[in-house]
Amino acid sequence: MFAENMVELGQKRSTIREIFEYGKKRAAEVGAENVYDFSIGNPSVPAPDCVRTAVINVLDQEGPVAAHSYTSAQGDLGVRTAMADDLNRRFGTHFHAYNFYMTVGAAAALSSCFKALAEPGDEFIAIAPFFPEYQCFVERGAGARLVAVEADTDAFQINFDKLSEAITPHTKAVIINSPNNPSGTVYSEKTIKTLAALLTEKSAALDHPIFLISDEPYRELVYGGVQTPFVTKYYNNTFVCYSYSKSLSLPGERIGYVLVPDELEDSRTAYAAICGAGRSLGYVNAPSLFQRVAAACAGQTADLAVYEKNRDLLYEGLLRLGFSCVKPEGAFYIFPRSLEPDAAAFCARARKYDLLLVPGDDFGCPGHVRISYCVPTERITKAMELFEKLAAEYRQARSAE
Ligand code: PLP
Repeated sequence: MFAENMVELGQKRSTIREIFEYGKKRAAEVGAENVYDFSIGNPSVPAPDCVRTAVINVLDQEGPVAAHSYTSAQGDLGVRTAMADDLNRRFGTHFHAYNFYMTVGAAAALSSCFKALAEPGDEFIAIAPFFPEYQCFVERGAGARLVAVEADTDAFQINFDKLSEAITPHTKAVIINSPNNPSGTVYSEKTIKTLAALLTEKSAALDHPIFLISDEPYRELVYGGVQTPFVTKYYNNTFVCYSYSKSLSLPGERIGYVLVPDELEDSRTAYAAICGAGRSLGYVNAPSLFQRVAAACAGQTADLAVYEKNRDLLYEGLLRLGFSCVKPEGAFYIFPRSLEPDAAAFCARARKYDLLLVPGDDFGCPGHVRISYCVPTERITKAMELFEKLAAEYRQARSAE
C-alpha cells in the first residue's frame, strides 16, 4: 500500500541521527553535562548580529505580508543579485542573478542537482570519506547509482588512479566536498587542477560532459590562512551547492543555493532542469524571510574562531594519546583512525564513557571515527580524560596479548 523503499528509509535513522537521539535520551537520564556528544554538526556559536538586525529590518521595512510571501520559484531577484555580487567581490567572478537558484539548504541544493542530472543508468561518483546522505539523495531521491571512490587515508586528498578507474560511460557527475565532512581536509589548488584536467580528458574521451558538483557548506570554515580554491574558476562544468547553515550558524532556517555558471555546457537548459527538479520535489521557493537575511548578511560569518581552538585541543590531545590522525584544515570535524579495525565496536566502547562518536563506515571509510567539534570548548577539555581512559583500555589489552 505504501512505497516500500520510503517506508524502509523512514523507519531507519542515519547513524549520526541515531547517536544524536541516543545522546538526548542519555542526557535526560544522567544530565546533559555528563554526556559528551560529538555526533552532529550543529554549529555551537551564535548567529552573528547581522542576522537579528536583518530579520527585524525585513519585518519592519517589508511588513508582515511581503516578508512572508511566496517569492519567484528560483528565489527573489534582489536576493540572487546580492548572492552574485558577494561572490564576484570575494572571488573575482562574473556571476549574475540568473546563475542562482535559492534552496532549502545544501541538502535541497544537492537533491535538486542530482534530480536535474539523473537519467536512467546514470552514476554519480563520491570521493570517500563523504557525507552519508549523498547515498540517499542520489539513489532514493534521483534513482541513480552512487559509486564511492576509496579514500586516500594518508591525506584525504583525491586518489586520482582510483577516481580515473571509477569513471565509466555511465558517469554523470563527480561530487566533491571541501572543506570536507568528515575529514576536515581542504582540497589544495593542485588537487582541483588535477581533478579538472582528469574530468576534461574523460569528458572528451567519453564524448559527454562529466559534471562536477561542489558541495560547499563549509567554504568559510578554514584555519591557519588555508585557501579554498573557487572551483568554477578551474572547471567550467561545475555546479556549486552552498548553504548558510554553518557559516552563519543557521542550520534550522534552511537556506542555501545552487550556482549554475554561464560557462557550464548548455547552461540555460541546466538552470531550467534545476528549476524543474526543485518544482518536482515540491520546494516551491526557499524560505522567504531567510532569503532576505542571507542577502543582507552575504559575505559575513558567525565568529568561527572557537572552532580552530577546538580543533587544536582535540588534534593535539588525540595525538598525545596515540591516535593517528590527519590534521583538519577546515570544517568542524576530525577523523582519527579508531583504535581497533572495527570502528563501530570502538564507538560502542567509547559509549561506555558517554563519549558519543560516529563510526566512519557510513562515510565510506571504515576504521575511522568522526568527532564533531562544534561544541563548547569545555566539553572537549573534560572529554580528554575519557579519551585517555579509552586509550588506556586498548594499551592494556595490547600489553596483555
Ligand atoms: N553537505 C555536507 C557535506 C554536510 O555536512 C551537510 C550538513 O551537515 C549538508 C551537505 C547539508 O547541509 P544543510 O543543512 O545546509 O542542508
